[in-house]
Amino acid sequence: GNQRKVEANVLLLGAENVGKSALTVRFLTRRFIGEYGDIESIYSHTDKIDGRDICFNIWDSLCPQNGEESGYISDRQLQWADGYILVYSICDHASFNVVRQQVQCIRQAKQKLASTAQIIIVGNKRDLQHRRTVSSEEGRLLALSADCGFFEVSAAETYHGVLMVFHELFELIREARALK
Ligand code: GDP
Ligand code: MG
Repeated sequence: GNQRKVEANVLLLGAENVGKSALTVRFLTRRFIGEYGDIESIYSHTDKIDGRDICFNIWDSLCPQNGEESGYISDRQLQWADGYILVYSICDHASFNVVRQQVQCIRQAKQKLASTAQIIIVGNKRDLQHRRTVSSEEGRLLALSADCGFFEVSAAETYHGVLMVFHELFELIREARALK
């Protein structure tokens, strides 16, 4: 077997307040604490998948302030990421439009950089059904049209769904590397 350490750089992107930090902290600690502040950080977290240690480097990003167009992703981020988790809130349609723009931006960069980076689109806050403004269908269609994974989750309510997001992203990254 190949005992080389496997790493995956995962970048969380999306509008403000959609739950990027909540998803990150859920994955790292299994907990939901409710308030996360505005800290931008890269965390390292090792997880066993199929008996193998996988080191996730997780970049919990902040939205660019002062006039950058929404959906903007820096060159540094585009070069760093092996995989993207693009997060919107199911009760914030504007945040879904940000994800739509980010999908386009990543697809263009992938061509330019000849990158195999993979994308999972996540509709968060599934517990707030009564305030939903983005249908599951809209999310699923965007993912289908751009060849991305798709999940609806609640970082507030369950660990399992969040775990599935990270594991599925790793699986896509692994497959893409194998084909390269
Ligand atoms: P970020 O700006 O994208 O990092 O968003 P945060 O992770 O800071 O979350 C923004 C707000 O949404 C916080 O008040 C969280 O407690 C809340 N939040 C995050 N995820 C969920 C969720 O799944 N359900 C609900 N109801 N609230 C959530
Ligand atoms: Mg945050």
